[in-house]
Amino acid sequence: MLNHSARELWETALGSLQLEVNRHNYDTWLKNTTGLTLSDTCLTVGVPSDFVAECLDKRLAPVILKTLRGITREDLQVRYQVHQARTQGAPLASPRQGAQPALERVSASGHARARSRQPARGAQLNPAYTFDTFVVGKSNRFAHAAAMAVAEMPGKAYNPLFIHSGVGLGKTHLLHAIGHAATERGMQCLYVSAEQFTNDFVTALRENHAEEFRDRYRSTDILLIDDIQFIAGKEHSKESFFHTFNDLHAANKQIVITSDSRPKSIPLVEERLTSRFEGGLIADIQFPELETRQAILEAKAAQLGMQLGRDVAMFLAQKILRNVRELEGILNRLLAMSKIVGRPVDMELAQQAISEIPSAPPRRNTFTPASIVAVVAAYYRISPEVLAGASRTKEIAHARQVAAYLIREETSYSLSNVGKLLGNRGHTTALRAHEKIASELDKDSTLRHEIGEIRGQLQPRSAAVN
Ligand code: ADP
Ligand code: MG
Repeated sequence: MLNHSARELWETALGSLQLEVNRHNYDTWLKNTTGLTLSDTCLTVGVPSDFVAECLDKRLAPVILKTLRGITREDLQVRYQVHQARTQGAPLASPRQGAQPALERVSASGHARARSRQPARGAQLNPAYTFDTFVVGKSNRFAHAAAMAVAEMPGKAYNPLFIHSGVGLGKTHLLHAIGHAATERGMQCLYVSAEQFTNDFVTALRENHAEEFRDRYRSTDILLIDDIQFIAGKEHSKESFFHTFNDLHAANKQIVITSDSRPKSIPLVEERLTSRFEGGLIADIQFPELETRQAILEAKAAQLGMQLGRDVAMFLAQKILRNVRELEGILNRLLAMSKIVGRPVDMELAQQAISEIPSAPPRRNTFTPASIVAVVAAYYRISPEVLAGASRTKEIAHARQVAAYLIREETSYSLSNVGKLLGNRGHTTALRAHEKIASELDKDSTLRHEIGEIRGQLQPRSAAVN
């Protein structure tokens, strides 16, 4: 206990809490807090305001206390004290920098342009979210290539570009990366969350600055709108967005939009915008396959200056099955734990870090080939026996190929074992099946969607995380 410093203990706790509470709660209540002092019985945590202190105390106390107990094995009290947050130098800052970036115009020199009457706003593009730091794999290759093309030829390649995926899979990262690349080429970029767009619009109306609002949004070369689903249901903002969109589009200015669902399922997009989207490109990002998860872990570890053996990266990649944000969370936790116990990050520590995530849903160890066969069979509404049987009908052969693909991607099963499992076939059949699906995935968005859904069913779910 006394080995802990307040700061390290709280940072370890934050590493876990990041996995426990949803991102909005994390960013709002926990992100700008810091461990101040630690006695035998009490940890004092610095918070930015009384309001945050109250909310942490009232709303998040159970999960915070449980997390601390998981780390220290003791029942600590927690006190909150209003404290000026450090503005820089937070050792574990990288994954938590991704705060909701507010509206900001970034000029070529990187300085915010003067905006009359517009109050100065804090964050802009997250410097960590560039193309260089984005790990490309099968799951995101298409969206990444589209984002690169748009950054190189704004208004010409695909307009609009619409990127959709589940939470924590890299949409915001790609959007910022486009912003950085285009800004470096001297373009004016405006990055804004749909929520911010809405707030801005409402403020402009209230304060009679509609004209300025219009000019600001219509004079940019590239408009990057994040999480468009938040506009749904806000009629006036929708209307305003539609006009902004039309004006920019007509002037060949690039628009990039992200969303948590496909355009057709967002009420906002409806008839009018859907037809516009057809002139552009819709790209999705899937949950990364094992190999990419491992590559992301290795890249993030290197960014954190952390020694991460291949075995540990592979172990974590097999265990972490929700999203990339969770991969980052576990690395932070591991790094903080290794500092606290003064031990290198090794397999034992990794096992401890995974097992100690408090109240984590029961995790499947890793996917077993049989569990993959069962999920794939259920998805295509056939029985596992039929899937592994002799039938060569198109549908069944397709399901079998998908199963072969996923088993190869998600387990360390050898090709000959995959062949055997799928009806005593040889290893070349398994190899061909895998290759066929892998090459079709690059071209066929329906297949990508299918595989994404199946992967989703393989993943453990938890209401607590994002
Ligand atoms: P989304 O906007 O889709 O919810 P984010 O872009 O915020 O997801 O990504 C969550 C975190 O995961 C970010 O810190 C981001 O840098 C990281 N991330 C996601 N995909 C990748 C990737 N392919 N390579 C590196 N980091 C990634
Ligand atoms: Mg996002």
